[in-house]
Amino acid sequence: MSPGVHGLPPVIVMAGLVAFGVAVGVWVMRVVAREGGQERGGEALSSEEMFRAVLEGSAAAVFIIDQGHIRYANEAASALTGAPAVDLVGRAFLDRFHPDSHEIVRHRVLKPPSPAVAGLRYEARLAGADDRWVELTGRTLDLSGQAASLVTAFDVTERRRAEEAMRESERRMRDILETVQLVAVLLDREGVITYCNPFFLELVGYEEEDVIGREWFAAFVPEEDRESGRTTLRDRMQLGAVAAHEETAIVTRHGDRRVVAWSNTVLRDWTGEISGTASIGADVTDRRRAEEQLQHDAFHDALTGLPNRALFIDRLQAALARLQGAMARGHHKGMFAVVFLDVDRFKLVNDSLGHSVGDRLLVELSSALKTAVRPGDTVARLGGDEFTILLEDMEQREEATAVAERIQAVLREPLTLAGHEVFATVSMGIALSAPSYRRAEDLLRDADTAMYHAKALGKSRHQVFDSSMHARASKLLQLEHDLRRAIDRKEFRVHYQPIVRVEDRRIAGFEALVRWHHPERGLVAPSEFIHLAEETGLVVPLGRAVLEEACRQATQWHQSSGDDLTVSVNLSVKQFGQPDLVEQVDAALRQSGLPSRLLKLEVTESMVMENTDGAIALLRRLKALGVHIAIDDFGTGYSSLSYLLRLPADTLKIDRSFVSGSGDAGRNVTIVRAVVGLASSLGLDVVAEGVETEEQLALLVDFSCPLAQGFLFSPAVDSEAAAQLVAGRAAMGRSLP
Ligand code: C2E
Ligand code: MG
Ligand code: MG
Repeated sequence: MSPGVHGLPPVIVMAGLVAFGVAVGVWVMRVVAREGGQERGGEALSSEEMFRAVLEGSAAAVFIIDQGHIRYANEAASALTGAPAVDLVGRAFLDRFHPDSHEIVRHRVLKPPSPAVAGLRYEARLAGADDRWVELTGRTLDLSGQAASLVTAFDVTERRRAEEAMRESERRMRDILETVQLVAVLLDREGVITYCNPFFLELVGYEEEDVIGREWFAAFVPEEDRESGRTTLRDRMQLGAVAAHEETAIVTRHGDRRVVAWSNTVLRDWTGEISGTASIGADVTDRRRAEEQLQHDAFHDALTGLPNRALFIDRLQAALARLQGAMARGHHKGMFAVVFLDVDRFKLVNDSLGHSVGDRLLVELSSALKTAVRPGDTVARLGGDEFTILLEDMEQREEATAVAERIQAVLREPLTLAGHEVFATVSMGIALSAPSYRRAEDLLRDADTAMYHAKALGKSRHQVFDSSMHARASKLLQLEHDLRRAIDRKEFRVHYQPIVRVEDRRIAGFEALVRWHHPERGLVAPSEFIHLAEETGLVVPLGRAVLEEACRQATQWHQSSGDDLTVSVNLSVKQFGQPDLVEQVDAALRQSGLPSRLLKLEVTESMVMENTDGAIALLRRLKALGVHIAIDDFGTGYSSLSYLLRLPADTLKIDRSFVSGSGDAGRNVTIVRAVVGLASSLGLDVVAEGVETEEQLALLVDFSCPLAQGFLFSPAVDSEAAAQLVAGRAAMGRSLP
């Protein structure tokens, strides 16, 4: 290195080289040498000119500061400070800066505290009102033994503004996020949590320090979603786009799962690089649960939790579609069946034990039904006491009847309901799938029709639908129509069945039993139409007509024979609910002139149980007229004996199922004996119904049962035949000795 050319110690040369690279550094040494008065007149160095050009063309502002004053400034420096280079030279360097930055310029840039930190960058504000900032780097120069500084400066005003704007928007965002009732989470590119708001902390149950810095997926995402979550984030970071809205599950500190609906955006730093994601979310767990609940409720029965009619029809329709698809492909697969099930005498349970026990029965029954079917089958509650079962993937038709038998078997065990043991029996109709069915409703209708047949055949059984049942179903409609017409046309007649004293077989009275003289079908028994009349309300005018006719008839017997022959009239549930029943009875007595003690009204326990207090009051009012009350079909309801005995009744009529029924004979005999004994000790009359044989009568004689009624003596006969029986006064059922 030639001192003639450079004239500066090598250390300064080195400093310059480090600061600007070789070219600039070499030129600086030349300048300083010239200023230092060591000019070698007229000798122009081409390299020096080149370095000058480089320095002057540099985008960086360069200053040389000597004793706090500017010794040199390049063009970029004058552009930066807004003053021509000539004006700058000799000025105090600090004056170029805002007073706020003097400290840093003086003690960091111009005089680095230690050689180790020399060359660090500092930001300083320029003088002037326009808030312009530079980034400065200062290095020490030795100018002929004098310490000087070489300072480079870049204008960073724009960058700072951009950063400040970023910071500002971030601040604003945080302000919002700290206060809203929404969770907010910022993740970096790797999914590490860089920020979360207090609401998020509240939701997950952690402190901020437990959350910041943790990987989102490991910390809050359910295990099964973690890997896919990470992959998605990676992909999104690469694409620079996120799903604007998504719903994900998170797990809280206590292990609760919450569903959060997120709005996501990509975060970028000031250079536009993707730095992570920002997500704002609402905890929608409760809303989702409520929606799920609503959805569930719309398709399930509230009491039993079983699928409801809508869901059942849906599944049935799907099964039908599968069957049709299989048939179209030539397969014989997908056979299924619909079982329609109705609880026998459910109304009686409801009426005698109360609705809550009735509800319990339905719940118990629904679990019993589920045990009788395979897991894939659908047990649904259609409403009331009606259930349906869809049996799918059947191999053969017999499977459906096998399920029905299984159900009957399960129900052979009593259900315990609120301390009561209740035997529930059900009637079932079965419709088997056939390609001819188009609509689910048609299958359901046919299963229903078959169920009605099962009921008609004596309940507690099942019937498989066959097409002849359609005819019988429409017959029922016809019957209702005829029934209405029959009332208009007065086609009903009252027949009378004698009630006989057991000791001498003489007639004590008659029970009035209605008959329908159908123009085509002849005499129709009440079992075929009473329930329909009850359902349609036609039983009210019908019952009233029977009452009036029976009173009229009994008055005739009384007058002709001079005997106190009673007449018993059955009341229906609907009649019993008539507010003017007492007036009706009173009017019938007055019109006919029948002494009230000769009229007996028969009520069943279920009628009384429906509204016990009201019923007892009503019975008392009837008794006040002087008429007698009989409890009909005694023993067939669910009421407790002690309870029934509190009713204001005069007579118990032991149901014929105990007298001539097909049940356990020994048990029945015991029941009859017990009821007779109990009734007589309470001063009640007893009528044994359905006496058909001498053996049965002999037992009644043994038990001292006072009254009996049955085919052994006479069936119900028309009024003329009854009048003859009265006139003959013969002992009934056998000729007098
Ligand atoms: P209920 O009041 O228990 O009448 C007794 C029924 O048993 C009558 O049937 C009678 O014919 C029948 N019966 C009598 N003795 C024997 C016997 O030894 N063996 C058998 N197997 N049966 C016997 P019916 O006349 O068919 O009446 C059936 C039910 O219809 C009656 O049962 C009653 O609940 C109802 N009913 C009849 N007439 C009327 C009425 O005018 N109004 C109302 N509301 N219901 C009526
Ligand atoms: Mg009766
Ligand atoms: Mg009866």
